[in-house]
Amino acid sequence: MNHFPIFLNTSGRRIVLSGGGDAALAKLRLLMKTTAHISVFAPHADDQIKAWADAGKLTLIPRPMAPGDAMCAALFYAADEDAAEDKRAAAIAHADGALVNIVDNLADSQFITPAIVDRDPVTVAIGTEGAAPVLARAIKADLEERLPTSLGTLARIGKAFRKAADALPFGRARRDFWRDYYFNAGPKAFAAGEDAIQPALDDLLADHLMRDTRKGHIAFVGAGPGDPELLTLKARKALDEADVVIYDRLISPEILELARREATMIDVGKEAFGPSTPQDTINALLVEHGATGAQVVRLKSGDATVFGRLDEELDAVTSAGIDWHIVPGITAASAAVASIGQSLTKRGRNASVRFLTGHDTKGFADHDWKALAAPGEVSAIYMGKKSARFIQGRLMMHGIDPDTPVTFIENASRADQQVLATTVAEMEPTLTQAGLGGPALTFIGLTPRAAQTALTDLPLQAQEAL
Ligand code: SAH
Repeated sequence: MNHFPIFLNTSGRRIVLSGGGDAALAKLRLLMKTTAHISVFAPHADDQIKAWADAGKLTLIPRPMAPGDAMCAALFYAADEDAAEDKRAAAIAHADGALVNIVDNLADSQFITPAIVDRDPVTVAIGTEGAAPVLARAIKADLEERLPTSLGTLARIGKAFRKAADALPFGRARRDFWRDYYFNAGPKAFAAGEDAIQPALDDLLADHLMRDTRKGHIAFVGAGPGDPELLTLKARKALDEADVVIYDRLISPEILELARREATMIDVGKEAFGPSTPQDTINALLVEHGATGAQVVRLKSGDATVFGRLDEELDAVTSAGIDWHIVPGITAASAAVASIGQSLTKRGRNASVRFLTGHDTKGFADHDWKALAAPGEVSAIYMGKKSARFIQGRLMMHGIDPDTPVTFIENASRADQQVLATTVAEMEPTLTQAGLGGPALTFIGLTPRAAQTALTDLPLQAQEAL
């Protein structure tokens, strides 16, 4: 980030602009939203600028900039539509101590003006550091549509009510009140007319003052395989409202970014066979925070109900009498199979699919290998990297066709996703040689669709030769 966004208090400050044409007009329209004193230097000013000057909205000085003209100015805009005059005026303003912007000249500007969505006093500023003005405009249009025009009015009236709302205890109770106002009671009252807003606020406060303090709650939330866009809307909402987020190692930083800024973030990352936060400690943390009345999000990768030790945590919070609910997520097998363009089940191939773990509490996990080795079967193996050789051995021992496809998908759905297609006969040492460092899902019985197409695309003779 080269340009750091701030909101500048312009009340009582000077803003100076050089120029009197279209570029100057466009900037002035924006600047006149502020409460600053605006001075315009232009030997030939547009009639509109003259009219604003006559109406006392700005001061027009009908000559070019001279040294000292931008003295004590907070901001200066060069909008002469003439590179040489812009440069001259900007040098004067710079010497006078103002921050300088030259219209359409990012390189020589000290600051840039963002695209703005104006719901005064709520202002959204959008900047792309000059990289993509089209994108900035598209985001602005999108926000203009999404943010109700009532927002400014609600915020203005809400601001005057802040003192009264301080009667509510600090923290969740106060937050709930404001959320209720901005997203529920406020817009409803606004629809009935601006005069209805103040009484609605009084009623709402009375209602919230009477409420019991909210009880603690744990949401067991599946965060999906890593791509934040694969979060459910419910997961996002839970993160938005969380006081405490207790998360696993596999949760991607982009997802953690979405948690409420004030939330306490607790990392209980566990590495298979490696150093870990003991399950008892995690259970105790859940109970401890739930008991204080916090809204806790227990964030688990993929789906919380798949190899997530969920039941131990549910038992702990249930016996502590804390409420909870589960928000399902996209499990790694779903993301991984999508990335190779295949189905988990297919008519005529496999009518069932197994989700297996490569290891359990006792070490490498044992399974019904004979069933898994049958032709056409599909298994999705979680935590299957370290146990790959063991699985290979067991499947071979139970008579699997050694050419049965095996696909490893590392970091499914993430930017650094990798797919490794092999066969049971070669899955080791292929996997070890590939040195995949991230979480990986193993499919026995599935190959990437692209590879399959490539094979059938070969001339018939070549196919027969294979
Ligand atoms: N509850 C999770 C699974 C937790 S077990 C879920 O539903 O996905 C952890 C294992 O999940 C990892 O060892 C790996 O096998 C798999 N896994 C998790 N995220 C993955 C990803 N993005 N890509 C591939 N495998 C992943």
